[in-house]
Amino acid sequence: MMRTLVVFLFFLICSEFYSQTTVDLDILIGKSQNNLVGDSIKLETSTHKAYKKMEAAAKRDGVFLKIVSAHRDYERQKLIWNKKYEKFTNEFSLEPKKAISEIIRFSTIPGTSRHHWGTDIDIIDANFPNEENVLVSEKFEKNGLFFKVKSWLDKNSEYFGFYLAYTNDKKRKGFEFEPWHYSYKPVSAKYYRALIKTDLKKIIKSLNINGSEYFDQSFIEAYIVENIMDINPDLK
Ligand SMILES: [Zn+2]
Repeated sequence: MMRTLVVFLFFLICSEFYSQTTVDLDILIGKSQNNLVGDSIKLETSTHKAYKKMEAAAKRDGVFLKIVSAHRDYERQKLIWNKKYEKFTNEFSLEPKKAISEIIRFSTIPGTSRHHWGTDIDIIDANFPNEENVLVSEKFEKNGLFFKVKSWLDKNSEYFGFYLAYTNDKKRKGFEFEPWHYSYKPVSAKYYRALIKTDLKKIIKSLNINGSEYFDQSFIEAYIVENIMDINPDLK
């Protein structure tokens, strides 16, 4: 009896540990996510709860947050990537490798976007619904349209679990400063740790997207270290 109980408890602890440290590969690379809330803006369940709390707190301070982008699946990211590649190589006549390095200033290779997880959001000020090209750094700086939102988030977002992913740290490589992109750490840190444990080189190498034939070994290695791993250290 005692032995059965010990064995049972052992398995219980192991399965609990397993569920906390592993995340389904398809969720990590945007090919599935069954834990989403929302219609056009979709968020992972706990992220959604925390965001609603933060949104309400901001509102009480007279600040109106608006999410312009949340969960994006693999296919959506592939569409963004392919369109940009076409534009940069055809319209702007860039060499393929140059086009790729332009795309990865702000956009991820499909399968490697933090937006796949439903934990990451791009936030602007809801007071300017007709504003175009909203994700521009200057708009979040002093005298910019979204400065009020940005100052509020600087002071309060971490209390609600939301951290900037791509900070203004000059030593940081990879994606440029994105003052709008916040990540819900309690869930995304777990996903991040799971993602970097996967065979990312193999995943990126096997992609079939525009320009992927130009992804050589050194490009892929640099992309993993700089674009995927060189994020706000507080999010790891
Ligand atoms: Zn973003």
